[in-house]
Amino acid sequence: MYQGPPLQQGQPCDPGESRTLRFLANTHVIPVPGSRLPWNSYIGVEGASHNNLKAIDVKFPLQVFTAVTGVSGSGKSSLVRDILYCALGREYNQGRMPAPGKFRRLTGDLHRIGGVELVDQNPIGKSSRSNPVTYIKAYDDIRKLFSEQPYARMNGYGHSHFSFNIEGGRCPECQGEGVVKVEMQFMADVILTCESCRGKRFLPDILEVRYKDRNIYDILEMTVREAIDFFSSHDEPTARRIAERLMPLDQVGLSYIKLGQSSSSLSGGESQRVKLAYFLSRENSMTNRLFIFDEPTTGLHVYDIEKLLKSFSALISKGHTVLVVEHNMDLVKCADWVIDLGPGAGDEGGSCCYCGTPEGLAQRSDLATGLALRSKIPVQQ
Ligand SMILES: [Zn+2]
Repeated sequence: MYQGPPLQQGQPCDPGESRTLRFLANTHVIPVPGSRLPWNSYIGVEGASHNNLKAIDVKFPLQVFTAVTGVSGSGKSSLVRDILYCALGREYNQGRMPAPGKFRRLTGDLHRIGGVELVDQNPIGKSSRSNPVTYIKAYDDIRKLFSEQPYARMNGYGHSHFSFNIEGGRCPECQGEGVVKVEMQFMADVILTCESCRGKRFLPDILEVRYKDRNIYDILEMTVREAIDFFSSHDEPTARRIAERLMPLDQVGLSYIKLGQSSSSLSGGESQRVKLAYFLSRENSMTNRLFIFDEPTTGLHVYDIEKLLKSFSALISKGHTVLVVEHNMDLVKCADWVIDLGPGAGDEGGSCCYCGTPEGLAQRSDLATGLALRSKIPVQQ
């Protein structure tokens, strides 16, 4: 019988919910950077006239952090997602891309980057078996580590026995999900803990394989922080490597999520940061990319915004470019460059009202973003 809420549906503990943290978050102020990164190279979009855009020419600087701002409906998504992202995706042959919105041509230093990445808030995987640890590719080493343990060797359990995707070690009843979905006529599906494995996702004999007294289910139930502490406290190179691979999840402020947490239980903002963590983990093996983030601060408290900013710096220091569509002035004030669209929405928008540093934009009391930025950046009279 079903005895309680399904194991995989637990909401992550949100550190922002602690009263003390909430108080600190309300009083904590992200400092305005002392200087802005200069830029020389850029990618230009000329003649952008998709939707409400007024045939504008815009230069997107490379290897710095740029924020695209403007009121809702001013044309930000039309310019950044519909034109820039799709046009660059086609330019660099990145698989199936929708046709870009109407524009004349791309210009500038296209040879300076090798591709474009949209880091959005969509779920990290289509299957509910996908989870943070598989997404950032740390699970391969965890499987390797477990297959090297004495009990696994004795019984011939290899990597695949610890896989969610292949038959062999996973629970055949729930296919390694730990839960089963019961379809109800005329009602929403009901998710129940798998009776066969009691939510533990693997066959009993696979769960007998232990590394330092923990089985594979125990590992998947660890938070990112617990797992980093656990794996970094042991000497095996594989364990150390696992801890290193998990670090980016901590860097982007996701230390509280569980390694094996189903992708469907992650919020949009959390999914976005798992994707960012993935790119941070492989930054050394990548050509320079232009990363586009759509409203990345949604649902973040001030400490996590600071972590996000550090992640942006980490990407830029490796030669990547960060382009953010954002309303949050705590993030905008930290950008190296701001492109403000407007001045209004719909027919009243679609023009490029300002390009420059946040300091310069804060001087512009004729622009909504300029006024909003004044509360964050001291304006010289
Ligand atoms: Zn099961």
